[in-house]
Amino acid sequence: MTRFTEVADRVFVLRYPVLDVNVTLVLGDERALLVDTLATTRQARELAAAVAALTDRPLAVLNTHHHFDHCFGNAVFADAPVYAHPETIAFLSTADPVALWREWAPTHPGLDDLNTTPVRPPDRHVVHEQTLDLGGRTVLLRHPGRGHTAGDVVAHVPDVGLLVAGDLVEESGPPQFEDAYPLEWPEAVAELLALEPRVVVPGHGAVCDAAFVRGQHEELAALSWLIREAHADGAPADEVVRRCTFEFETAAVAVARGYAELDDAIL
Ligand SMILES: [Zn+2]
Repeated sequence: MTRFTEVADRVFVLRYPVLDVNVTLVLGDERALLVDTLATTRQARELAAAVAALTDRPLAVLNTHHHFDHCFGNAVFADAPVYAHPETIAFLSTADPVALWREWAPTHPGLDDLNTTPVRPPDRHVVHEQTLDLGGRTVLLRHPGRGHTAGDVVAHVPDVGLLVAGDLVEESGPPQFEDAYPLEWPEAVAELLALEPRVVVPGHGAVCDAAFVRGQHEELAALSWLIREAHADGAPADEVVRRCTFEFETAAVAVARGYAELDDAIL
């Protein structure tokens, strides 16, 4: 049984072993905010039990972005409003759990009920910033611009200097670029650093701090400039990949996405 750990006053993180995903629970006097809902119905029921062990207050849910490992558990929290960026809502409105199950379940047994998991798209929009009053505690939901996806939203809990960053920050692996905007991602992370967080919950891996995020910002900024300069010089993408500090597969996706952005092939 996975459990929540308190990482700041009345802020709890559950680090789920399948794909090493983090879920965060922020308690107020009247309501609680659950940030992300895991990947499948079974996982989300386990999560709901862990939440119930800490609070019986009404819940609001935030989806940090549209990737299934963060939000396919939404339907289990049927009474809760679910907040997300409109781009996330659009992606989830056309998501195909069976296709994802075919891709992921063979290598991840913990995802074997992905094909029967109903997708519940979020129903509350966060376009730029939204304030949530949890009773005696305010949480800011913020879209810092495009980065890991087109619709990343973070949760900032100012009274404890805590930021839930979603996959804009990853601790247990390199940043993932499949749906990313590598040229804009550094600016989004700079916006997060401007909030001067003391505690940062990444989308995957161990809870970290601003110094870790600064390191990731430097890596992403270096990548962004490498792509811009190489594109301006007319360098072929595979040559740029070899000059990246990220491992080959990560770099190949990042450079392809960056070149597509510069070629206006993605909007
Ligand atoms: Zn992701």
